[in-house]
Amino acid sequence: MKFRNFPMVPRVVYGRGSFDQTSEIIEEKRNKERPFIFLVDKVFKEKELSKNIPLQGKDIIIYIDTTDEPKTKGIDEIRDNLKEEFGTVSGIIGIGGGSVMDAAKAVAIMMNNEGSSTQYQGWDLVKNPAVYHVGIPTISGTGAEVSRTCILTGPERKLGINSDFTPFDQVILDPALTKGVEKNQAFFTGMDCYIHCIESLTGTYLNAFSKSYGEKALDLCQKVYVQKSEWDDESDEDLMMASWHGGMSIAYSQVGIAHAVSYGLSYLLGTHHGVGNCIVFDRLEKYYPEGVKEFKYMVEKNKIEIPQGICKGLSDEQFDIMINVSYGMVPLWENALGKDWQKIMTKEKLRALYEEM
Ligand code: NAD
Ligand code: ZN
Repeated sequence: MKFRNFPMVPRVVYGRGSFDQTSEIIEEKRNKERPFIFLVDKVFKEKELSKNIPLQGKDIIIYIDTTDEPKTKGIDEIRDNLKEEFGTVSGIIGIGGGSVMDAAKAVAIMMNNEGSSTQYQGWDLVKNPAVYHVGIPTISGTGAEVSRTCILTGPERKLGINSDFTPFDQVILDPALTKGVEKNQAFFTGMDCYIHCIESLTGTYLNAFSKSYGEKALDLCQKVYVQKSEWDDESDEDLMMASWHGGMSIAYSQVGIAHAVSYGLSYLLGTHHGVGNCIVFDRLEKYYPEGVKEFKYMVEKNKIEIPQGICKGLSDEQFDIMINVSYGMVPLWENALGKDWQKIMTKEKLRALYEEM
């Protein structure tokens, strides 16, 4: 098909305090004896949020450790345990950042699809619809709440399960949940959104659909990170909507160089998505001059330390692994640099870029 036909999140609730409505929202999807499974970031264990999760009957909470971003093996294990204990479930509800939301999407898909999640990493490989799944973000920026993918690290690759069955059936956007994120982390995830905007808006894949969302997201990022002097409740609200729009923007375009290079760091070194993107974007003046200038200003204004020297002492073999992972992200490079991207970003240039980090 020449024009891609995208699924979108069919239902969304927005509002400060809307999390309290979760029970009411999911109830109509409850299937008698089948429980709802809440995947919740471990950071909320024993916290107010966990106490407010409306468990009923056999519902359970599974706390997700986000020290590492989601792995195929962990997803398969959760699925196997749920199948063994319950057979099937009413739904999966992910409460957390991109890591937990992606885990929830992946588990929901795997409840109805055989084998290992590694088999579905790629584009349109999922055969059966996922079980009902709900996303509730607690940190803003990734756009995972709207996207058609869930990114998993497997033994062979870090790649999303991109499918029409991946997007959430329901999203609950409650900006109050994003309070309390550590300052650097909040910035890195927020910058994921900013970088989505810059990469989408300057890319060769851009069209009016992507542009309209990308421009709105960029405006909101600039409002909270450049124009305002203090972070307040309105900033949480604005960034939550920026994340949504940024995600919508890349749905119909693509991300670019920062993401392509950051995937290499993440695959080899386990560098998390947000901070990895910042480490790379900081070095991309040549490719995104205006965006990087503004980024550096935001880093300074918010007194953020971008990790340095993470590629120091790596072997040739290790550089090659990162280069090959990054080179594999063809649509990202093509979006950024056009069809002849390999002539512009040669493997030597890419190596030099990694060496700077
Ligand atoms: P994250 O989910 O990894 O969380 C980062 C940290 O913030 C964790 O330590 C977590 O415990 C903490 N945290 C989250 N909410 C908090 C809160 N309210 N209070 C205190 N601490 C809180 O971070 P992220 O940047 O949102 O997500 C990164 C992940 O998202 C990666 O796995 C990446 O691959 C994925 N991603 C997915 C998409 C997509 O479209 N599916 C897009 C971009 C990134
Ligand atoms: Zn991203």
